[in-house]
Amino acid sequence: MQNDKGKIVILGAGPCGLGAAWRLRELGYDNWEIHDRNEYIGGLSASFVDDNGFTWDVGGHVLFSHYDYFNRLMEVVIPEDQWLDHERESWIWMRERFIPYPLQYNIGRLPEKDMMECLAGLMKCRNVGFDFDEGTFHDWIMHFFGEGIAKHFLVPYNKKVWAYPPEDLDAHWIGERVAVPDLNRIMNNIINDKDDCSWGPNNTFSFPLHGGTGEIWRNLARKLPQDKIHLSSELGAWDAEKKLLRFENGREEAYDHLISTIPLNQLLQKSARDGHRKDSDSFVLSASNIIGVGLKGEPPERLRTKCWMYFPEDDNPFYRVTVFSNYSYNNVPGKGYWSLMGEVSESPKKHVDQARLLDTALEGFVNTRLIENVNDIVATWTFRAEYAYPTPFLGRDKLLDAFLPALKQHDVYSRGRFGGWKYECGNMDHVLMQGVEAVEHILFGTPEITLQYPSFINTHRIR
Ligand SMILES: Cc1cc2nc3c(=O)[nH]c(=O)nc-3n(C[C@H](O)[C@H](O)[C@H](O)COP(=O)(O)OP(=O)(O)OC[C@H]3O[C@@H](n4cnc5c(N)ncnc54)[C@H](O)[C@@H]3O)c2cc1C
Repeated sequence: MQNDKGKIVILGAGPCGLGAAWRLRELGYDNWEIHDRNEYIGGLSASFVDDNGFTWDVGGHVLFSHYDYFNRLMEVVIPEDQWLDHERESWIWMRERFIPYPLQYNIGRLPEKDMMECLAGLMKCRNVGFDFDEGTFHDWIMHFFGEGIAKHFLVPYNKKVWAYPPEDLDAHWIGERVAVPDLNRIMNNIINDKDDCSWGPNNTFSFPLHGGTGEIWRNLARKLPQDKIHLSSELGAWDAEKKLLRFENGREEAYDHLISTIPLNQLLQKSARDGHRKDSDSFVLSASNIIGVGLKGEPPERLRTKCWMYFPEDDNPFYRVTVFSNYSYNNVPGKGYWSLMGEVSESPKKHVDQARLLDTALEGFVNTRLIENVNDIVATWTFRAEYAYPTPFLGRDKLLDAFLPALKQHDVYSRGRFGGWKYECGNMDHVLMQGVEAVEHILFGTPEITLQYPSFINTHRIR
């Protein structure tokens, strides 16, 4: 292919930047390069091996896919016999018991008083007529789930995940992510004493046999021309008018098109324009602290097939814990070991005492009976992702609708989890495709549907 669109520079070697690079290579377009400030590939989807031989993701990553292109790429990147397949078993730990996820279909497992409150709330709520332009996420919860489920699960759990109260969040992002309850199904489950799980034969996921989720992205990068990949190369300043990038290592790069997958507010902060820098303060995000615990012995029977668990209560700091050794036996140093990975969110509205993080997490693992004997602990690992959740804050869409097209006018495509700042299309499959679609738009003018129409993507299977 002719390089007639000039030079394409990609910022960030996470799944989005790598998706863009992959598509360029696949199309035979040669005039591009990629820069990342980290010395490793993968961004938030990287994996790490600790000194004791335990492998950790930045929170357990599960491969979802809405795209045939993404599935085909995964087959190229990791050979068929190097994947493990799992049922997506997810649970909630509350009231001293495990309840299958989602709660609304399993309220029969709650103590009777709580179940009756959830049921009363569900009976009072209407399941049509919500005004997404007026209501907050909290209003959405009350509208569709009622007071009981809000009080017992959705409000405390969402505060823990987002590190902001649901009143501070917009509701547009929800799309297919949370199933609106069907009262008949709920009543049937209660009457027949039936568990109604979100997993089963059609709800499986694959995980790399070796190297954690990061193996996917390391392998993909290995298949790209190595001289085009620049690690430890942090953007320091950006001039939109001159189309010029200045890196902290002194390197300067001119571009014709820029695909930036670094956080949008950071890109704006590095801009030569005052207006850009001022607006960068409006973006809201939360951090996530990952706490890995390696243990000797076997996981207790009740954890043996579980993938991840949600934690709405306050006797522990986590919003989610993954039994990471269940994803691959190679995530631990050998037979006779297992591992847990907890995620603790943080924001200006939810402070985390870093000095006590590990102690509080260990207390939480014990309080929730995930760890029965602390003497079994042989390794601990912590990681803080400052940019973990792109918060769907009130006014987000207005801001994005102003910025993203304006940047595009300057041939700057801000894409990816924090480049596009849309949680609803911020998983690995979405962001890889945002990179692919940005390239196709630059080269052929085709529409970028993932960023523009996330609810369509999330309810359809794409090419
Ligand atoms: C706790 C947690 C759990 C998750 N679980 C899942 C899951 O189960 N399934 C799933 O599909 N997804 C999951 N995700 C989302 C997944 O991690 C993201 O979809 C993906 O990593 C985003 O890719 P990206 O390329 O858009 O951004 P990133 O991965 O954030 O990559 C951006 C890159 O830009 C680089 N960068 C930043 N600033 C600069 C600079 N100034 N100069 C140069 N480079 C810079 C960074 O170093 C980084 O490598 C999870 C995320 C988190 C935080």
